[in-house]
Amino acid sequence: MLTLPTYDDVISAAARLKGHAHRTPVMSSRTMNREIGAEVFFKCENLQRMGAFKFRGAFNALSKFDAQQKKAGVVTFSSGNHAQAIALSAALLGIPATIVMPNDAPAAKMAATRGYGGNVVIYDRYTEDREAIGRDLAQKHGLTLIPPYDHPDVIAGQGTAAKELFEDLGELDALFVCLGGGGLLSGSALSARALAPRCAIYGVEPEAGNDGQQSFRSGAIVHIDTPKTIADGAQTQHLGAYTFEIIRRDVDDIFTASDAELVDCMRFFATRMKLMVEPTGALGLAAARAMKAKLQGKRVGVLISGGNVDLERFCALMTA
Ligand SMILES: *Cc1c(COP(=O)(O)O)cnc(C)c1O
Repeated sequence: MLTLPTYDDVISAAARLKGHAHRTPVMSSRTMNREIGAEVFFKCENLQRMGAFKFRGAFNALSKFDAQQKKAGVVTFSSGNHAQAIALSAALLGIPATIVMPNDAPAAKMAATRGYGGNVVIYDRYTEDREAIGRDLAQKHGLTLIPPYDHPDVIAGQGTAAKELFEDLGELDALFVCLGGGGLLSGSALSARALAPRCAIYGVEPEAGNDGQQSFRSGAIVHIDTPKTIADGAQTQHLGAYTFEIIRRDVDDIFTASDAELVDCMRFFATRMKLMVEPTGALGLAAARAMKAKLQGKRVGVLISGGNVDLERFCALMTA
């Protein structure tokens, strides 16, 4: 039996993050309110330290290391933002960090991870198993493995973003959350169920990788091949054991968005809100736009999960 994290763990995580993570701003756009016909509130985790919410989970998990774990170091596998989050958190806490990254990770993410002092180990995401590589390194060198989403301390840390949103705004009618492996969605759901019991919680995945939607609807974790999508932060192959249990208990539904819809949202964020949002970070808005008929007159939260996209790639997406 898994012991699932609770909202109390989110509260403890918030205390550990105080003074280290930014309390990110909540922004809105009259243009988008008019388009959707609702009051839309954006929680801007693209403005979080290292450019994504992942700092919250990583810093919370590493803050709980004992002296022995701190000395030996941390290892993780990640397509990017979790890698940077672990590297930065480890640097801040004086812990050595080893990061297993795919060879096709965005250059900005890889450079940032090395820049924070992380020791990067490369693998091929289409032929090698990153979890096995990570576990192997952990065993050989006595490192503590902190995975990107399926860990109680990571989930509790990620839940602090939605906690802040509900503290700022009170009850909402719906909250849209980007979904990869489900750390952000399950943590957000813990906060929502405690602070906004009437709020509908929706996860949003890339259309090409809807394993979460399939899992949610079938009641068992579905595994898929690495999906080909511009949403590189959500190229996960399956939900986690912890994240799935929380999602199926506390989440209302899971939707998908196409790459074209994500590009359109990124363009909106840049031009109208002056926000740089990475493709994965636009999933929530894409889904809210698509179901606007059901959101008329409502108060809607949208979690913008991150803003780490190479400038060259951003420009190429905008002009394609
Ligand atoms: C990791 C990530 C996600 C997905 O988060 P999960 O906890 O894996 O569901 C979404 N957006 C961005 C920007 C990310 O870095």
